Amino acid sequence: MAMADVTVRGAGAFGLSIAWACLKRGARVQVVDPYGIGSGSSGGLVGALAPHVPENWNAKKQFQLESLLMAQEFWSAVEEVGGVSTGYGRTGRLQPLNDARALELARQREVTARDFWQGMAEWRVCKAEELGTWCPPSATGFVVHDTLSARMHPRRCGAALQAALSVHGVEVQSEAPDQGKVVHATGYRGLLELSTVFGKSVGNGVKGQSALLRFDAGEVPQLYADGLHIIPHADGTLAIGSTSERDFDDPSSTDQQLEDVIARACTALPLLHGAEVIERWAGVRPRAKTRAPLLGAWPDKQDHFIANGGFKIGFGMAPKVAEIMADLLLEGQDNIPEGFRVEDNL
Ligand SMILES: Cc1cc2nc3c(=O)[nH]c(=O)nc-3n(C[C@H](O)[C@H](O)[C@H](O)COP(=O)(O)OP(=O)(O)OC[C@H]3O[C@@H](n4cnc5c(N)ncnc54)[C@H](O)[C@@H]3O)c2cc1C
Repeated sequence: MAMADVTVRGAGAFGLSIAWACLKRGARVQVVDPYGIGSGSSGGLVGALAPHVPENWNAKKQFQLESLLMAQEFWSAVEEVGGVSTGYGRTGRLQPLNDARALELARQREVTARDFWQGMAEWRVCKAEELGTWCPPSATGFVVHDTLSARMHPRRCGAALQAALSVHGVEVQSEAPDQGKVVHATGYRGLLELSTVFGKSVGNGVKGQSALLRFDAGEVPQLYADGLHIIPHADGTLAIGSTSERDFDDPSSTDQQLEDVIARACTALPLLHGAEVIERWAGVRPRAKTRAPLLGAWPDKQDHFIANGGFKIGFGMAPKVAEIMADLLLEGQDNIPEGFRVEDNL
């Protein structure tokens, strides 16, 4: 077999998306993951592709906006080649506004969104009663409806990328020697390893627990209420997430904290009472010290690169991360925003 131009280590959302972006540009690619596809945080249930609030604009918010706007085309191409659905849909999001301060802030953001989102999506304050039954209770009677948020099913996303890569002869291998340029997209384990190599913390893992319910809501907006994401998937299931745990012993266990999340989701959306919980799942998010993605060349290690730090929005960031990394690896173009580099985390 011909030598690979790029070796991707890690078959999560970042690694597989980078492999796909490089392959589309004509590179020969191999993907290596000893634990298998989606065995890290990308193997979960939630899949909210939701924007930051449109205010106090910065490089991270701009990067995320561009990635969310690229998503439809990016995932459609993956689905078309591999024939597997990602469950992607730009179905929007509703957020209840429960006090006067939240309502006032939301109205200010309605104005700032016009500038920052440049007419490509809207952040609207609406009367809850206009939205019918699929609406969380709101103490002020108003909710935010944004038209930028989308959803996808994390596991289907991994399966769709795997299928698209496989059409081009790329299968995820459990072990293989490095060939060509090497990208380390190894999730929170990778952040811990990097911290050891650099002798200081560049990031860590934050555990999250989530649940999947049998509940067919149809093509309706996702909800963000009481700090929880409630995501109606395309396949008749509905995901609820998540806890956020800096200290944990077991990365994959679920406990009473998840039962509390499920109960809070039922309060936020009473329609969910009695829905069957079909899966409980936990994983560990890779959180870089800056909380932004951690991208770029591995300092002082020629031809080695890092793509990590997706934290809570890795699926939303994956299309842009993939293109930026392909620019760097294949064209030698460094389009990485300020604050996203490995050095910024040291
Ligand atoms: C409960 C929960 C809910 C979430 N909800 C959302 C959400 O709604 N929206 C969103 O955008 N994001 C969400 N996230 C975050 C998202 O899942 C992550 O940002 C994303 O999965 C990170 O992808 P990754 O490829 O960087 O890491 P991972 O998916 O962790 O992948 C890393 C891969 O590297 C492999 N690996 C480790 N060591 C090695 C090695 N030495 N060699 C080769 N491979 C190795 C692992 O096996 C793994 O497959 C959530 C996360 C959790 C835990």
